[in-house]
Amino acid sequence: MKVELLDYMGDDLAVVNAARVSFDKQSHWQWLNDLEHDAELYEKDAKLIGYLAKHNHWTPFAHTAIKFRVTTTFPITKQLHKHTVGGVVNEVSRRYVSYLPTLDIPTEWRKSAENAKQGSSDDLVLMDSAMREQVDKVMEACLALYDDLLLKGVCPEQARMVLPLCSETTWIWTGSLVFFARVCKLRFHSAAQKETRDVAEQISKHMSELFPVSWAALMEN
Ligand SMILES: Cc1cc2nc3c(=O)[nH]c(=O)nc-3n(C[C@H](O)[C@H](O)[C@H](O)COP(=O)(O)OP(=O)(O)OC[C@H]3O[C@@H](n4cnc5c(N)ncnc54)[C@H](O)[C@@H]3O)c2cc1C
Repeated sequence: MKVELLDYMGDDLAVVNAARVSFDKQSHWQWLNDLEHDAELYEKDAKLIGYLAKHNHWTPFAHTAIKFRVTTTFPITKQLHKHTVGGVVNEVSRRYVSYLPTLDIPTEWRKSAENAKQGSSDDLVLMDSAMREQVDKVMEACLALYDDLLLKGVCPEQARMVLPLCSETTWIWTGSLVFFARVCKLRFHSAAQKETRDVAEQISKHMSELFPVSWAALMEN
């Protein structure tokens, strides 16, 4: 799994100024010294961001754009692509590429949870070496079969049907602060799958570096 920040537009001050346009006003950074990066919001502007987040005045946050390159297995990708409103996705197409995918085979296997809605518990299943070998063998067999089908002339869009679900795919994901705050709040929930939570955590880390005040306010409310 990998989450790479590709590009972004905006900062905490851009959020403040999108809100302050209502009164035809603009704010600016409070410089702490001459270094350009050593500046922070004035207290009144930080408070404004808190107010906006608390009262769901979401539009000032939506004038931002953050672009990630994400690599995840097929099921985790599918879960994350359920977040549709305000997000844009473009993904590698296995109709057009036919290289062998990287497999992200679990190194730890979690036990089922007693509550079916939860998916898994934190306890691990003790896997003996025979079972681990069997998993690896099945995965290798799937990749070998994929290669054989392609060699026989089968098109990639059908040959991919034999690929294991732990195959990784790569996609570009763009959205605003509003979009990624919704994604992270939903996927931080304890009922979300751990691997999906891990992606949300990486996204959240980037967001709190890029938009420290806005991100903290959005995640709090
Ligand atoms: C822990 C967990 C378990 C899940 N389990 C399943 C599952 O078993 N099966 C499954 O299919 N999905 C499942 N999902 C996905 C879930 O149902 C949502 O599709 C997903 O979380 C995206 O939500 P979103 O609010 O970001 O949706 P988006 O589609 O991005 O919508 C954003 C917001 O816009 C509004 N909105 C969107 N469409 C409408 C509409 N038609 N009418 C009115 N308002 C609208 C809603 O307020 C919505 O929150 C699960 C999600 C989580 C977090």
